[in-house]
Amino acid sequence: MLPILIKHLLKETPRLQDVKVFGWVKTKRDMKNLSFIELYDGSCFSGIQCAFDRNSSFDTVTEAALTSLSTGASVTITGKLVPSPASGQAVEINASSIMILGDSPAEATGGKTPELDIEAYPLQKKRHSLEFLREIAHLRPRTNTFGAVARLRSRLSFIIHRYFMERDFHYLHTPVITSGDCEGAGAMFQVTTLDPQSAAKQINSGSIDYSKDFFGKKTFLTVSGQLEAETYAAALSRVYTFGPTFRAENSNTTRHLAEFWMIEPEVAFAQLEENMALAEDFLKYVINAALNECADEFSFFETHIEKGIIENLQKVTNAKFSHITYTDAIKELEKAVSAKTANFEFEPKWGNDLQSEHERFLTDSVAGGPVIVTDYPKEIKAFYMKLNDDGKTVRAMDVLVPRLGEIIGGSQREDNLEKLVKRMQEMNLKPEDYWWYLDLRRYGTVPHAGFGLGFERLIQYVSGMINIRDVIPFPRAAGQAEF
Ligand code: ATP
Ligand code: MN
Repeated sequence: MLPILIKHLLKETPRLQDVKVFGWVKTKRDMKNLSFIELYDGSCFSGIQCAFDRNSSFDTVTEAALTSLSTGASVTITGKLVPSPASGQAVEINASSIMILGDSPAEATGGKTPELDIEAYPLQKKRHSLEFLREIAHLRPRTNTFGAVARLRSRLSFIIHRYFMERDFHYLHTPVITSGDCEGAGAMFQVTTLDPQSAAKQINSGSIDYSKDFFGKKTFLTVSGQLEAETYAAALSRVYTFGPTFRAENSNTTRHLAEFWMIEPEVAFAQLEENMALAEDFLKYVINAALNECADEFSFFETHIEKGIIENLQKVTNAKFSHITYTDAIKELEKAVSAKTANFEFEPKWGNDLQSEHERFLTDSVAGGPVIVTDYPKEIKAFYMKLNDDGKTVRAMDVLVPRLGEIIGGSQREDNLEKLVKRMQEMNLKPEDYWWYLDLRRYGTVPHAGFGLGFERLIQYVSGMINIRDVIPFPRAAGQAEF
């Protein structure tokens, strides 16, 4: 049997038998003849208070531990679970013994050899900046903030799987290594076993021979599992992916990572309208479930990360998402410019992509909440999006939310072989490279649609964390691959 977690212990009723609890020391305080240790194990937000009455006699191990103990040490404590006189907790431990499993020195200590030297434990009880904590990403999950984010992240993945599973979607694993820049979603990372030095020599003498590479052709890390998901939607009707994706974006923003997790549902026999409804229902369900199932974490986010976040999220789950076409959105932005009610760095212009300042204006000032922008110019969207009858716009949709901007990007897919081939040629893609994708339009083609949600963007949005690097355990971004 595994040891009892503090999360469960805190909900138990006092009893006569001893309990034995494992954890790390969060704080230690001495008051008159009492020593208090707050012990936590990360299973929930709070730790459990353990009180040692210094008038009692303890064994020598416990006496020694009580004098030498410092923040971060791992220990096991035995004692009786008793009603707590302190506010904010029902029970505490009236401890009879403590044993240190692993010290955590509060001061630097020299070892026998330099490799055995130990620096002072960096997480002493004080506030640390998120930037500093990013440098110790292996220790930051021990802080309140990162513990809460980690528990939220884990729960959210479960909630997402539950949402789809309960609606007869099948979970699909799409490949991480792919052979084409399937959608031009972003710069790709190349995967190769070729020796860079001899490859460099080859470049001088012509071009690299990828038939000699591991896969016999040029390969990359995937930017999206969508094209493969479409093949399974064309067989199982409803599928979703939930896996890592990679984009070599050199943009140093607070909402872009080089490695991030994406959730991509793909639905056969669905058009843009159903796709929008699915995205809205999905977001509302996930936010609602997170609020209910991570209540302690949310009260922490509310007090320490972003005031008002709970109410804002609740509002979102009750609001109807607005819909606006890209063309109307541009008109609204232009109106705001000429009425001088907005001051944009980038001039809004039909044909250009929406900048984040535009997205913010649309959510905050035009829609007053989440808004789905549809029917973008075909030139700024991927080749596979269904062409509208106007010949100029495609059945794309971006879901924008206040504070963050784009959280979801999706579309109805082009299901007509001829139109799809024409779009590919216009965009200088070789149809023969996509033979299998085009087969879906040759054999039993159906209207279908789907979207991609960046998992980290979702966590950012619901937690209120400003920087996307703080909602993934080990962020990968340009110049950053430690741990
Ligand atoms: P953006 O314009 O914000 O860069 P995009 O248009 O490149 O996004 P899509 O290709 O539509 O995004 O990807 C689908 C979703 O994946 C986005 O809505 C977003 O939630 C997420 N996403 C995209 N790029 C990144 C990234 N570099 N890091 C984290 N999440 C991302
Ligand atoms: Mn992007």
